[in-house]
Amino acid sequence: MKNPIALGASQLSARIGARQILHGIDLQLPAGRWTSIVGPNGAGKSTLLKALAGLLPRAAVQGRVQLLGRALAQIPARERARQLAWLGQGEGVTDELTSYDIAMLGRLPHQAWLAPPDPADHAAVEQALRATHAWDWRQRPLSQLSGGERQRVLLARALAVQAPVLLLDEPLANLDPPHQTDWLHTMRTLVAAGTTVVSVLHEVSLALQADDMVLMAAGRVLHQGRCTAPATHAALEQVFGQRILVRHLQGMWVALPAFGRGQCAPPDAPPGVY
Ligand code: ADP
Ligand code: MG
Repeated sequence: MKNPIALGASQLSARIGARQILHGIDLQLPAGRWTSIVGPNGAGKSTLLKALAGLLPRAAVQGRVQLLGRALAQIPARERARQLAWLGQGEGVTDELTSYDIAMLGRLPHQAWLAPPDPADHAAVEQALRATHAWDWRQRPLSQLSGGERQRVLLARALAVQAPVLLLDEPLANLDPPHQTDWLHTMRTLVAAGTTVVSVLHEVSLALQADDMVLMAAGRVLHQGRCTAPATHAALEQVFGQRILVRHLQGMWVALPAFGRGQCAPPDAPPGVY
């Protein structure tokens, strides 16, 4: 049976100041799957993600967004915050809060006004901090953490929401390779449990491990398809101007740099590849 739609956009346009950034986007993101959004810098990926999360000023957006079958604009803010968790690109947070308190911010939409956290909130925070391997420094303020460590705490905050839909803008920024692998496992576990994940990723090989891929350029969606589909691979190579090659390696699809004419190939490159 076909998955229901978790997030849908129809004729979605957005402008910042006088500039049109998104141009009439139609997009359906299936529930219980992981979709990665990929495209060059300035393609409009962050703007699209913000528009899908309802984070752009109303006046800047035209068109419709639906979250789990309802018009996003009509869902009350607290309810929306329980249904849709968000990790933004380069987010500023109060440095002096501890990692634990930052992760607990993810529980705010679940808590009654001024009520202290209950055992379910503490359990969700512990689970999230353990999932991102940030539990050991839960009492340290964010100001004392490295960029990658901070990013893991911010991811824990998004996970602590336990929302059915998770939107992540460049969640791997500053993460070292082992923690990128951990992140991949975390996403797979969430999706296996029914969560819908939508992530903007620059790490194309990791983006290819998602279920589906959306390719963007110049404020438009150029392609949407399965990450294993040849048409997706061709569109991916094209959106990056044939500067990457998608290849099957060790049972998975990966992106490699393409060495064009006039550029140096590695000395041991097999003949005919370049
Ligand atoms: P991406 O995430 O794909 O790199 P963005 O959605 O951040 O792209 O940006 C899309 C376009 O909108 C870019 O050309 C960028 O320069 C422009 N843009 C983004 N934010 C602003 C802003 N605050 N003011 C003006 N232009 C912006
Ligand atoms: Mg961006």
